[in-house]
Amino acid sequence: MSAYCLGPLLHEGKAKRVYTTDQPDLLAVEFKDDATAFNAQKRAQLSGKGFLNCQISALLFEYLELQGIPTHFLGLPPASSTSAVGEAGDEASGEAGGNWMLVRPVRVVPLEVVIRNIAAGSLCKQLPIAPGTRLEQPLLDLYYKDDGLGDPLLSEARLRLLGLVDDAQRIAIEQLAWRVNTALRPLFAGLNLELVDFKIELGYSADGQLLLADEISPDNCRLWDRGIADSQARILDKDRFRQDLGGVVEAYGEVLKRVQGVCPESRVYR
Ligand code: UDP
Repeated sequence: MSAYCLGPLLHEGKAKRVYTTDQPDLLAVEFKDDATAFNAQKRAQLSGKGFLNCQISALLFEYLELQGIPTHFLGLPPASSTSAVGEAGDEASGEAGGNWMLVRPVRVVPLEVVIRNIAAGSLCKQLPIAPGTRLEQPLLDLYYKDDGLGDPLLSEARLRLLGLVDDAQRIAIEQLAWRVNTALRPLFAGLNLELVDFKIELGYSADGQLLLADEISPDNCRLWDRGIADSQARILDKDRFRQDLGGVVEAYGEVLKRVQGVCPESRVYR
């Protein structure tokens, strides 16, 4: 007997579906196999991606929690609940596929927080910095999360203009992002992976706590294999999809294999 029942779909994004449950303080997230890039202009189905991103995210959330970083992660569904995903009212959710995660509901802050340790992607398109340049001081960029506007880069003044968060909240958000970088960079380095950059999203729980939300996976982290010099062969993240390099699922699988080697097992929600 599962501890919860799946309720109606609350939200469908590009990579995940979020369902309510019969418990007000519990949401079920389904990771999809859909891959999108360039503001969803490029799309594909990559079988297994949802499973891999869910499992990688669960392990990284578990690790970050142990480092004292609060996240929305509550656990993976119990393995005994093997019912298929179905209509509202089904017991538990599609745990058999391994692409479901239980999380705390949060009021998502519509900001994308990016930390860059090495120059890549948009930074190199917008500024005269060569890809691969190690940034002496990692860079934190805030973007306004709005696909229609193309997620524009924010200045502090523009953030104030929008009034999404006050200065104290912005500082808390940035501090949490730096803590994630401080925790994940050495973790990945120990796996012979370079954490080039990553994007996180945050939200406030019902009791007002700032939590790391969304996911942490090769969809929103750039990860390079430190043991490979070739600038394309070393890519183990969504750039393989963006740049049509192939082997996307294989690369994500390699990341999961390495992360599994060091992270404690993901907790199971009961
Ligand atoms: N990123 C993301 N979602 C976005 C934009 C960026 O997850 O909507 C991630 C991306 O995968 C990379 C980091 O944030 O790890 C920095 O991305 P960048 O600004 O370089 O943009 P991109 O080159 O991906 O367009």
